[in-house]
This record gives sequence, C-alpha cells and structure tokens, in this order.
Amino acid sequence: QPTLSIPESPREINDLGRAFNNLLLAQNQRLQHERQFISDASHELRTPIAAIRGNLSLIRRRGDSHPEVIPESLAFIDEESLRMQHLIENLLHLSRADRAKIELSDQDLSYLVLQLGEHYQPSLAPQKLQLEIDQNIHVKGNADMLQQIVVALLDNAHKYSPVDQPITLRLHQTDDAIELAVADHGEGIPDDQKTAVFQRFYRVDQSRSQAIEGSGLGLAIVQQLVALNQATIKITNNQPRGSIFTVRWELKK
Ligand code: ADP
Repeated sequence: QPTLSIPESPREINDLGRAFNNLLLAQNQRLQHERQFISDASHELRTPIAAIRGNLSLIRRRGDSHPEVIPESLAFIDEESLRMQHLIENLLHLSRADRAKIELSDQDLSYLVLQLGEHYQPSLAPQKLQLEIDQNIHVKGNADMLQQIVVALLDNAHKYSPVDQPITLRLHQTDDAIELAVADHGEGIPDDQKTAVFQRFYRVDQSRSQAIEGSGLGLAIVQQLVALNQATIKITNNQPRGSIFTVRWELKK
C-alpha cells in the first residue's frame, strides 16, 4: 500500500512512482489470471456441450430410421452431462473457497484421519490402503475441509497408481511439524511439473491423463483448502516409484 503523504524529495517521488507501478502490475496480473481462468473454464465446458449437441442431432437425424443408435447416444449424453455437472461443482467450489472466511477450531486429526481411512478402504478395493496414524495429534482447522483434502488425495492416488500397489495414509508429528501424507506407487510426477499440477486445469501429459477421468481442478481445490487450514502442501518422490503428497503444519516453538 503506497503511503499517502505528499512526496517532497525526488527520491520520495521516485519511490511513490515505483509503488504505484507495482500496484498496477499486480492488478494487471490478477486480471490476466482471471481472464485465463474464464477462458480455460469455457474451453472445458465446450467439449461436453459439443458432444451432447452432436448426439442430440444424431438422434434427431437417424433415430427414426436407425433406432439402435438411441440407447448409445443417450448413454453418451448422460455421461457428458454428468461430467459437466462435476466440472461446474468444482468451479463453484473454487470460487467459493476464494472468498471463504472459515472458522478454525481444534480438531483431533488422528481420529478424523483414522475414521476416514477406515471408511474409505472398501471403496479402493482391491487396492490396499495402509494406515500409519499416530495418536492424539491435534490441529486448528475445519473438519469438512480436512476431510475433503484427504479424500481428494486418496482419490488421486487411486486413480494414478496400479491397483496391485498399496496406498499409504500417514499422520506423524515431530518437534517441528505435523505431517499428513498420502503416498502411492504410481507413475509419479516429473520434478518440473510438481508446482504446475496445483494450477487450475493442469494435467500431467495429456496423453497419459486422457484415459483417466478428471478436469485438473482437484489439486487446485486441495491447495486452496490446505491454505485455508493454515498448512502447506508439497510433492516428493516415493521409492522406488510414485509420489508422496504431504500436508504440513509448522509447529510454533
Ligand atoms: P485431475 O485428476 O482431475 O486431472 P488434479 O488437479 O487432481 O486433476 O491433478 C492434476 C494432475 O496431476 C493430474 O491430471 C495428474 O496428471 C497429476 N496427478 C495428480 N495426482 C497424482 C498422483 N497421485 N500420481 C501421479 N500423478 C498425479
């Protein structure tokens, strides 16, 4: 924020000019981000809409003479409209989280994560979920959001790693920090894309991700939720392969 006192010396005028310039630059950058976001969102929505319209037109043109096309086209329309619904829900989520002011309160993270892991295990089957959860770890946070973070990371681990390789959900406290981690043995994420995957709509290697359902919004939402819960998130490589997503709360000394 530039000061409002009247500048007197050339140096003060210079400083004020620079501060004003920085402000304009930041605003410009924000506008550019928003424009990019709207353009990406429109692009993502255009694909399912085109597919729906294409299939409606097919039914209209050929439905009478070739009724066998109808069930297949309807199934396609169903699938694409569901995809659109997910996308819109995710977009709403992002814009809400942008403005969210949330109440943080004491959470028994050990209990929350253990419950979630146990409930979630069956839906991952036959893939195994290993729970390594230390007891009695508390953070200040929002329970719904914390659950949403863990579910999103487990979902990704399940989507991007082979079912015969286990996923690990870990909660651990050291002198410095509390760390909540989801580790898998999938393809992993190349080092030069470990930051980019948190951007909206970013997916590693379109060809690799294409076969797997997704919009590239999940991790952008996770990152926002993590920040709202006053933590940070980073990705490291698992051994011998795969990735580890770690959510970290620094402990004040
Ligand atoms: P989505 O899964 O819908 O594409 P995300 O934002 O959740 O979107 O993830 C962004 C990209 O990061 C994914 O498309 C995928 O390429 C990569 N990714 C996320 N989680 C993992 C993981 N556990 N292992 C490997 N790649 C991952």
